[in-house]
Amino acid sequence: MNQRTIKTAIAVTGIGLHSGQPVDLEFHPQPIDTGIVFERSDIEGSQPIPASAFLVQDTMMSSNLVFGGTRVGTVEHLLSAIAGLGVDNLLIRVSASEIPIMDGSAAPFVALLLDAGFCEQDALKKFIKIVRPVRVKVDKWAELRPYEGFELNFEIDFDHPAIDKDFQHAQLQFSTQNFIEQLSSARTFGFLRDIEALRQNNLALGGSMDNAIVIDEVNILNEEGLRFNDEFVRHKILDALGDLYLIGYPILGRFNAYKSGHALNNLLVREILSDHNNFEIVTFDDNVTCPIQYLPLEGLTVEG
Ligand SMILES: [Zn+2]
Repeated sequence: MNQRTIKTAIAVTGIGLHSGQPVDLEFHPQPIDTGIVFERSDIEGSQPIPASAFLVQDTMMSSNLVFGGTRVGTVEHLLSAIAGLGVDNLLIRVSASEIPIMDGSAAPFVALLLDAGFCEQDALKKFIKIVRPVRVKVDKWAELRPYEGFELNFEIDFDHPAIDKDFQHAQLQFSTQNFIEQLSSARTFGFLRDIEALRQNNLALGGSMDNAIVIDEVNILNEEGLRFNDEFVRHKILDALGDLYLIGYPILGRFNAYKSGHALNNLLVREILSDHNNFEIVTFDDNVTCPIQYLPLEGLTVEG
């Protein structure tokens, strides 16, 4: 099981959730052991910003990286797509302080990365294997436990007429296929009253029903309704997958969370990395012994 980057550079333009302005995004292949790196294309000579949990500074509404005074915000949906597709090495250049919101899910990023294609690299893929349970808890909690594979369990607890009580728990047995089919298109959501308050503070200027499920006191306002009955909790798993990828490697473990969010997900990652007895870095000599299945495996070219 080897590391992976994209085959060719590819670009897209979207809208910044907060600015409401167009944002250019470029993906570039990277050599082995680079990891995921961001760069601001609008700032001359800006330093690369590694996708590291230790650079997350603000988790108000999204996960935001700050390094040397330079910021790249709203990284979680893109990182979720990158984790879902098993990409190890990638440079992301962005022309603003936030990753474009696209449709509020990870699906547009998945489509773009699939278009770029993947390239297997001549070095083993590294996984972080959780070897003892670690839990962080405030009134909400999140934990990672040892597990052969990667499973994500999430429970939300919204007392709202539009969020069905029967659809507030979801589980994902991670593989690229399950990620694409069950998770990648789940959109972010927001309450109309919060969006109006944000707008008054010049935030969420790009937010609309084109990039979020919007809920008022009673109803879902999007005419097309939900993509899944449990789209809300699926999106929380999508967010968690992106936030957890800031640990620096794909995870082997079971993630359980109750009402977690960006701040708690980040705290969990930092807690795990704070003690080497919590984890091991492991590799697999072949795809058969690796407990995680990535797709597409056919059509990959091997690069030195
Ligand atoms: Zn999200």
